[in-house]
Amino acid sequence: MKLAVLKETRSGETRVAATQETVKKFISLGASVVVQSGAGEAARFADADYQSAGASISPSAADAAQGADIILKVLAPSSEELRVIGRGSKLIAILSAYKDPDSVAAYARLGVDAMAMELMPRITRAQSMDVLSSQSNLAGYKAVIDAAAYYGRALPMMMTAAGTIAPAKVFIMGAGVAGLQAIATARRLGAVVSATDVRFAAKEQVNSLGATFVTVDEEAMKEAETEGGYAKEMSQDFQSRQAEFVAGHIAKQDIVITTALIPGRPAPKLVSADMVRSMKPGSVIVDLAVEAGGNVELSRAGEAIETGGVTILGFNNVPGRLAADASSLYARNIYNFIAAFFDKDTKSLDADPEDAIIKAITLTRGGAVVHEAFAAKEE
Ligand code: NAD
Repeated sequence: MKLAVLKETRSGETRVAATQETVKKFISLGASVVVQSGAGEAARFADADYQSAGASISPSAADAAQGADIILKVLAPSSEELRVIGRGSKLIAILSAYKDPDSVAAYARLGVDAMAMELMPRITRAQSMDVLSSQSNLAGYKAVIDAAAYYGRALPMMMTAAGTIAPAKVFIMGAGVAGLQAIATARRLGAVVSATDVRFAAKEQVNSLGATFVTVDEEAMKEAETEGGYAKEMSQDFQSRQAEFVAGHIAKQDIVITTALIPGRPAPKLVSADMVRSMKPGSVIVDLAVEAGGNVELSRAGEAIETGGVTILGFNNVPGRLAADASSLYARNIYNFIAAFFDKDTKSLDADPEDAIIKAITLTRGGAVVHEAFAAKEE
């Protein structure tokens, strides 16, 4: 089994789909690994590191992909990159299939067996393969670090000879994987932290991290979680009561970090321009949902802006701002997935199509769209 690790081409993408560690592990499984030269450069992994782990280095994507059974990437290939992937090869990456359903038809047409890591089901067996969790966790941490860097004050309470500094008040909106890590990080830095979510289960998790949970309607929250553990879109009534409550709370905060997402839908708008205006000059907002449309009305993807003295950070690809760790965890997620389905006799990724994990992430197989969410659209 030949694995090819391609260099990411999207501007601002710093991550890479394999590390020295996972290359070694793949080789001990019995696979061979080719890495496109420079693939790990932005994450500070040198070609020589991959070589010393046992990989060979190819000068171009076309060269690396030649004869590969499996192509490993972080993001979906561009149409140009897709041309170098041979018919019958498997492609494993974050394919953003719901955002770009046309790409699914293209994989089928070109005979590429595409597996979308972002569709990994949230079941116990797949936890070590869950790329959304591994990347969101880092994003939640980095959001607090970014906010602290732009905030012109200290986060912890400090009692000094010159007097006392009050602790910063940090409000986290959306207490999923990113939000919980943001809470833990802000607490570690000494802030006074509150958080909200629409899922009832989040309340206990927030409290267990030592933060205060705030909400408008606990009863409505009991209906807000899907079987897969994700949030549903809330009623108009809930949303307007939530907005009214949030308006009062936000005005007293120094740092607000928003992480709210609803799968397959635009991110809910939680912070209006008026709410931003109500905050004290020097406050900082981080919109982690900016790439999904944003939770903050004024945030702009890829930009740090200041309005009325309030800084709004809308950085893209926040996990990629911690390129080495984000790559290491992503690479391990991929290794864990391949190792779980690797057939030692045939030395190939030979998985049962009916397995719950394979079914959830396989978009195309043998030239056909097989994923139920996309196969229906094809007809
Ligand atoms: P996500 O990234 O889809 O959304 C982030 C958070 O925003 C969620 O907690 C969601 O409830 C919240 N949200 C949505 N609309 C909101 C609104 N209007 N106001 C406030 N908050 C809003 O979620 P996620 O981080 O992927 O996690 C979702 C859940 O899945 C969590 O409970 C997480 O612990 C769980 N999970 C389970 C597994 C597993 O069992 N293997 C793995 C990962 C995550």
